[in-house]
Amino acid sequence: MLLTSLTDSQDLERAVTVGEETLSRSELVDRAGRFAAGIPDDGPVAVHATASMDTVVAITGCLLAGVPVVPVPPDSGPAELGHLLRDSGATSWSGERPDGIDLPAVVPGTAAVSPRETDPEATAMLLYTSGTTGAPKGAQLSGRAIAAGLDGLIEVWDWTPDDTVAHGLPLFHVHGLILGVLGSLRLGSRVVHTVKPQPARYAAAGASMYFGVPTVWNRIVDDPASAKALGGARLLVSGSAPLPASLFERIAGLTGQAPVERYGMTETMITLSAHAAGERRAGWVGLPVPGAQTRLRPADDGAGETVPDDGETVGRLEVRGPMLFSGYLNRPDANAETSTGDGWFRTGDLAVRDPGGFHRIVGRESTDLIKSGGYRIGSGEIEAVLMDHPAVAECAVVGAADPDLGQKIVAYVVGEGTGQALIDHVASQLSWHKRPREVVFVEALPRNPMGKVQKKLLGS
Ligand code: ATP
Ligand code: MG
Repeated sequence: MLLTSLTDSQDLERAVTVGEETLSRSELVDRAGRFAAGIPDDGPVAVHATASMDTVVAITGCLLAGVPVVPVPPDSGPAELGHLLRDSGATSWSGERPDGIDLPAVVPGTAAVSPRETDPEATAMLLYTSGTTGAPKGAQLSGRAIAAGLDGLIEVWDWTPDDTVAHGLPLFHVHGLILGVLGSLRLGSRVVHTVKPQPARYAAAGASMYFGVPTVWNRIVDDPASAKALGGARLLVSGSAPLPASLFERIAGLTGQAPVERYGMTETMITLSAHAAGERRAGWVGLPVPGAQTRLRPADDGAGETVPDDGETVGRLEVRGPMLFSGYLNRPDANAETSTGDGWFRTGDLAVRDPGGFHRIVGRESTDLIKSGGYRIGSGEIEAVLMDHPAVAECAVVGAADPDLGQKIVAYVVGEGTGQALIDHVASQLSWHKRPREVVFVEALPRNPMGKVQKKLLGS
């Protein structure tokens, strides 16, 4: 049973809040049970995942009934929606209806279905990746894998039923939906969804745990009154994209506590995190959660099985554990590419590990490893140096095709000053070949709602 607390005979007032609407545990079970009764067939059910109680009810209803659910990003354009519906094979639709959707609607019944034991190995949720590197891929998540991932986090975050989690993140990704909502419904803690991730709304939530992506934390520290209001919380968690060390320090300075950074993927749930009771280190994502294992493979398939745990040598991160997905839907190519054949999953991310087992994510192999003039250069290292320059507010470094070098290093910068000053700054801190050959000033970096920089739009 994934959502264990929903079978608890004891009611819980204010179990779930979304904006102005609040349900007790028994009210949620009743509404979700009536939703389940209205599902026309074996699914999957596509749920138009707006930030609303209806979304929480619909997804909970599918999970209670053991019908696979596909959370659909509500701002999907027609092409994205077409891909998602064709790919997932959704047979019914719940929620607001964009033009062109002709699937039968779920019509909530009057007699509620009660929570029942479902096959833990069956696909409970088909969750699409963010589409940062290509078209979103459908990750098949079993109830058992989701439960294993949540239990690991519950342990390392010392998460208890007395906690209240607050966040305003999308309800169609792991972070907001699985960790924020399903984690609370599994454990029996309360969850407050602020609908929008605005600092004042976070501050008003009065929670003990706050979840945010780096762009949300950035807004919070720009609003010191709200940031200070979070000081009484037990855990401030950041993930989904890299948390710059400077932002880590600002959060710590304003709230009085260092944030907990964690790393995960749609395919793997959360596999690395700082522990609530352990070290929280700026720029590092922490230790494997219980059940997860990691290994770092040489970046160029060179000699040696794994790279040394010296905190410096970059390797390709592979993970394994009971929280892993059961494979991509309709993507034998991606399944073959990411699976080692012996249980390890190739994340596509680059990382270093120190002797104590702490990990730092350096970037993505596909967009953050620049091959220039015979060198392999990680963009993260250059971005960190640029961020140290007072004129730089944000930056993204990519490799652009170059007839001479293969790829040349190009820095996209939100900030002021001259390109040459920034090139000189990098050259003064790093090896000569790591200096950008070109600096492009932009108004803003292209980011998705999770704060991930869309490097594919920057001509990498
Ligand atoms: P797609 O797979 O479709 O290209 P995506 O990889 O962005 O998109 P997600 O599964 O939502 O889709 O995101 C997982 C990725 O997010 C990880 O592979 C990693 O690159 C990044 N990520 C998550 N947490 C962190 C973190 N704490 N620090 C750095 N990167 C992170
Ligand atoms: Mg990915």
